[in-house]
Amino acid sequence: MPRTLLGVAGFPVSHSRSPAMHNAALAEQGLDDWLYVPLPLPPERFAETVRALPASGFRGLNVTVPHKLAAHELADRHTAAAAAIGAANTLTFIDGEIEADNTDAGGFLDALATSPQGLRVLVLGAGGSARAIVWALRQGGAAEVSIWNRTPERAAELAQAMGVRHAERPEPADILVNCTSVGLDPTTTVADAREALGLLGAAPAATVVDLVYGTGPTPFVQWARGGGARVVEGLDVLVSQGARSLERWTGTASPIDTMRMAAQGQS
Ligand code: NAP
Repeated sequence: MPRTLLGVAGFPVSHSRSPAMHNAALAEQGLDDWLYVPLPLPPERFAETVRALPASGFRGLNVTVPHKLAAHELADRHTAAAAAIGAANTLTFIDGEIEADNTDAGGFLDALATSPQGLRVLVLGAGGSARAIVWALRQGGAAEVSIWNRTPERAAELAQAMGVRHAERPEPADILVNCTSVGLDPTTTVADAREALGLLGAAPAATVVDLVYGTGPTPFVQWARGGGARVVEGLDVLVSQGARSLERWTGTASPIDTMRMAAQGQS
């Protein structure tokens, strides 16, 4: 019988690779009485269920679509990242309180593997993940961050809120980050993705990051590799943010390679 529980709350959540990734890490760390479980929670049950989790043995919770704003709202305290981003993907139950963190930001910088200091970055998308990535890039010292989005009003609003530029059309940059959900649908072709993202005729940046991941390379990743870019895949970001969450809960360094293999379905 596990004594310490962790989990991921989403709706739906059955597609999530987090349980496989975290349970592989817990096994590698010898934490045999820990278990990470999927929690499918409809929005109307989210807050009451999360508040009841500590009494049931939960130490922490990852939070995914559509609960990241609600997770931020119900927390008693926030890390600097969660406070600045206004959304949380990691909750930790400590001493009767709920702490909210956002490891998407730090996980993105970890996966990027080189500093964005002094570089120009174009972020595609203006949803929840774009907000975390823009904050991370500013923290990382990027010289200029611009946001392009299909719905320009949302890009302008986010750019103003985060103190960065709104790009009216995709423009050249040192790093290009896809924070849209384009490519999530497995039938999307490379041409479809380029058209949806305003990239027809454009060459990829030297470094390209796709937050989207699937069973193989996404169309955005295929396009970037074809153009000779250094590519960071969505799975790399998933693993890095998960590693940071797990460290928060266990207090020890996470076994990244084991987590990556499990997320890829290789364990
Ligand atoms: P979100 O808040 O729903 O935002 C979606 C964004 O995609 C919006 O900017 C939207 O533009 C744009 N979009 C959707 N369909 C489009 C289309 N056909 N053409 C052009 N733009 C389109 O989603 P999110 O939370 O930011 O997540 C975005 C993606 O990142 C998802 O696939 C998610 O799974 C992934 N993600 C991955 C990680 C990871 O660890 N790898 C972490 C977080 C998120 P409009 O404003 O015009 O609607």
